[in-house]
Amino acid sequence: MKEDIRTIPINDIFMEKKGCPFCTMEKMLEKIQVDYIIGDAMMEPNTRIETNKKGFCHRHFSMMQQSGKKLPNALIMESHLQEIIDALPKGKKPDKKFLAKIKELTHSCYVCDRIESNMNHLIQIVFTEWKKGNDLQNLYKDQDFICLEHYGKVLENASGKLKGKDLTDFYETTTNLFKNYLLELKEDTTYFCSMFDYRNQGKDWGKSINVIERNIEFLTKEKP
Ligand SMILES: [Zn+2]
Ligand SMILES: [Zn+2]
Repeated sequence: MKEDIRTIPINDIFMEKKGCPFCTMEKMLEKIQVDYIIGDAMMEPNTRIETNKKGFCHRHFSMMQQSGKKLPNALIMESHLQEIIDALPKGKKPDKKFLAKIKELTHSCYVCDRIESNMNHLIQIVFTEWKKGNDLQNLYKDQDFICLEHYGKVLENASGKLKGKDLTDFYETTTNLFKNYLLELKEDTTYFCSMFDYRNQGKDWGKSINVIERNIEFLTKEKP
C-alpha cells in the first residue's frame, strides 16, 4: 500500500497550535514517508526503481537509519549502489553523462520529493476547507504564526485556488499571522540585544529569553 495521506485530519493539525501549522504538516508527512520507505515500500518494486534513481538526502538517510531497521536500509542501499555501478563510464576521460548523473543523484531525494508533492496536495485541501467556512477559518486565525517559507508557499498557491472574498480573507488572515509574529520577533530580538548593555544588568529577559531559537524556527524551517 502506498503511503496514505488522505487520512490526515487537516483540522487536527490546526487544532494543535504549536508553531507554524504548515511546518507541523510537513513534519507529519516526513514521518509517514520515512516509515513507509523502510516498511511497506519494501514490497513495491516501482518505489524501489524510483528510490534507486533519486536516492536520499543526508537528513532522510539518517532518519531511515535511526529507525533501526537494518535489513530494509541495507537492501535499499544495495540496489542504489548497483544503479551507480551500472552507470559507471568505460572511457579514459571524465564522462560528462556520468558527472551529470552524479549531480542529479546528489541533489535529489525520494522522500523530499514525496513530501513536496503531498504538501502541495494538503495545501489544496486547506483551501477547500477554507471555502467551506467557519470550522477551519476559526482554527486558522488562532495559529501562533506562519513561518517565512510557508507564508510564501501558501500565498503563491492561494491565488489560483481561491477567489473574491475567500481570497482576500485568506490573504488578510495569513498576512496577519505572518506579520504580527515578524514584528513581535523583531521587538523581542531588539530587547534581547539591549540586555547585553551593562545598564540593563539584572533586568528581566522576559519572553526574549529564547529569541534566537524562535528566529531560527521562523526564518528557516527544519529542512526536510
Ligand atoms: Zn512553516
Ligand atoms: Zn530528503
